[in-house]
Amino acid sequence: MPKCSYCKKNYEIHKGVSVVESSKGNVYYYCSSKCRKNAEMKRKKKKWTNPGKEK
Ligand SMILES: [Zn+2]
Repeated sequence: MPKCSYCKKNYEIHKGVSVVESSKGNVYYYCSSKCRKNAEMKRKKKKWTNPGKEK
């Protein structure tokens, strides 16, 4: 059984979503599309975080 990359729960593979990030070759497993969305949002936020951006 794969483990959800977001909530760390084990789930049955046919119920979840697998995402391959082709640019880095990473594979993410999610138990639901909800977890996938949340995880992707989190990743994007991290990318956009810019500590030097202050007026
Ligand atoms: Zn999950």
